[in-house]
Amino acid sequence: MGKVVAIDGPSGAGKSTLARSLAAALGFEYLDTGALYRATALALRFKGVAPEDDDKKIKDALEGVRIDFRDGKVYLDDRDVSEEIRTKEAGHYSSVFSARRPVRDFLLPLQRGFSSSSSGGKDLVVEGRDMTTVVFPGAWKKFYLDASLLERARRRYEQMAAARRHISMEDAMEDVALRDKRDSSREIAPLKISEEAFYIDTTNLSESQVLEKMIEVINGCWMAGK
Ligand code: C5P
Repeated sequence: MGKVVAIDGPSGAGKSTLARSLAAALGFEYLDTGALYRATALALRFKGVAPEDDDKKIKDALEGVRIDFRDGKVYLDDRDVSEEIRTKEAGHYSSVFSARRPVRDFLLPLQRGFSSSSSGGKDLVVEGRDMTTVVFPGAWKKFYLDASLLERARRRYEQMAAARRHISMEDAMEDVALRDKRDSSREIAPLKISEEAFYIDTTNLSESQVLEKMIEVINGCWMAGK
């Protein structure tokens, strides 16, 4: 097993950007688990599975599905879905399907596998909703990144605009609020702040300020907690 820096937090808290920069600073690999949930949701949709279908149908549909990362791209059964997983629709279905047991059971070993000795025991920076609590409870360092709802909606809006997928600010607010609700209220692996995690409110901080703080924590200058 390699070393794991685990980061959790709600949508739009800056986890992906920070995890990527932190991984580069530490010389670790970066694992975006949201991309795995998005690709899984696409796999289910391609097979005609609907959110109201039962667990058995979801489990059967995921049988033999392969998701992997190569050269910074996401592959679903060898098809490059890096772009497709970023659409609003894929975001919606990933949020809905991520509450389902067969989906979480399917992705748990896959995520752990990235740091296992069989895949070279790589050092990782991982980010998602249950990294510190369920997937890597023994992580070397744990963080919880947060930001106000308004700021997270603003970031979502800008991210979509940059990708030329324009949405209104109202839609961004609604989308982020709905995802918060689903992520925190689901029965399996809900989003919560681990007591061992170092909490950072990024609302009024720049990316480099947050990165600096995270590196200070890793170097042992701060204690965990809110
Ligand atoms: O982080 P991102 O928005 O790409 O994640 C897509 C969806 O996958 C989220 O809305 C969340 O519900 C789900 N997810 C999860 N657990 C993770 C990562 C993502 O439930 N570890």
